[in-house]
Amino acid sequence: MQSDKQYQMAKKILIDMVKLRDYQECKSDGILKDPEFNTDFKSIRELATFLITCRKCKEAPCISVCPSEALEKSENEIVIRAINLCVRCKSCIAICPFGTLMDDLFEKKDRTNFFDLSDEGELDRFVEASPDQTISFYEGEEDPDHHIYQLTDSILVKDYLWNQ
Ligand code: SF4
Ligand code: SF4
Repeated sequence: MQSDKQYQMAKKILIDMVKLRDYQECKSDGILKDPEFNTDFKSIRELATFLITCRKCKEAPCISVCPSEALEKSENEIVIRAINLCVRCKSCIAICPFGTLMDDLFEKKDRTNFFDLSDEGELDRFVEASPDQTISFYEGEEDPDHHIYQLTDSILVKDYLWNQ
């Protein structure tokens, strides 16, 4: 998915969404500043949530409940959030019948808690700052038998998919 060399990551990481759900608040998050992949500079957890975990409901209640019309579906049925419209009310989080959206997902974080994944040093610090191996370095490939799915060339996500 990545094409611009400037944004290649030095190492692969695995985001363990299963473990992340055990944390009420996970302070650190990563940003993938790839203009082709992430035009809005969404956090890596938000991208993983909507691209991999979300069940892509036909009549998505998260979209209809949003008071500021911040959520919509893309052409390929992926829910996308307009950061500039979102008032962080958490109504979408509360209404999702599948608990897809973690409670702290849209909370405003201190800038120091966001790590640039294209920078090797920041990538190391992101992994270090993530508790209990919720984010870890990973050398393998996509492995659906172990619930591991590819988000980008260098980022894999572990989660239980609903359509298996
Ligand atoms: S309600 Fe939940 S599972 Fe359904 S589209 Fe919205 S976030 Fe995804
Ligand atoms: S948290 Fe943001 S996206 Fe979700 S319902 Fe509230 S305004 Fe809409």
